[in-house]
Amino acid sequence: MPKKMIGLYPGSFDPVTNGHLDIAKRAYDICDEMHIAVVANPSKKALFPVEERVELLKKTTKHLPKVVISSFNGLLVDYAKEINANIIFRGLRAVSDFEFEFQMALINRSLHPKIEVVFLVPNEKFIFLSSSSIKEVAKLGGNVRGFVPAVVEKALRRVF
Ligand code: ADP
Repeated sequence: MPKKMIGLYPGSFDPVTNGHLDIAKRAYDICDEMHIAVVANPSKKALFPVEERVELLKKTTKHLPKVVISSFNGLLVDYAKEINANIIFRGLRAVSDFEFEFQMALINRSLHPKIEVVFLVPNEKFIFLSSSSIKEVAKLGGNVRGFVPAVVEKALRRVF
């Protein structure tokens, strides 16, 4: 019997963008069970609290029945073991993502040899999109429609 594919897509999701959702849907289509998890101990200072990032992810993925949204502290590989994930998904935009992601993938493999890290490429219209650029645009009063889901647009309007 083929192995059950349990995917884990981790990230800051501060906040979730249409680029994240594009990757999440591609990962979802590959997996039997799919977890999207907010990293709760990031080195970056976040705009939205972890609980709100989780809520926004739940609202924007509620049409995908086998998705589980959560958050975790500590090592990614430990969380992957806890939920029995056998694939970690990451999105790759441009060359700029590559070096960091490559390094992390090799570190994670040495910590947990049984897990595979799979990189997915988004639709080209999201290649330039990042949570930080969205926050910058929203902060300066720009229109972020089309780049983030409507609930995120509303949350950004409330903050700025
Ligand atoms: P992190 O702080 O872990 O990089 P992010 O929320 O910034 O968290 O991103 C989570 C994952 O989603 C990363 O693999 C990142 O490369 C990917 N990602 C973010 N934005 C996009 C996008 N527009 N297209 C494809 N992948 C993306």
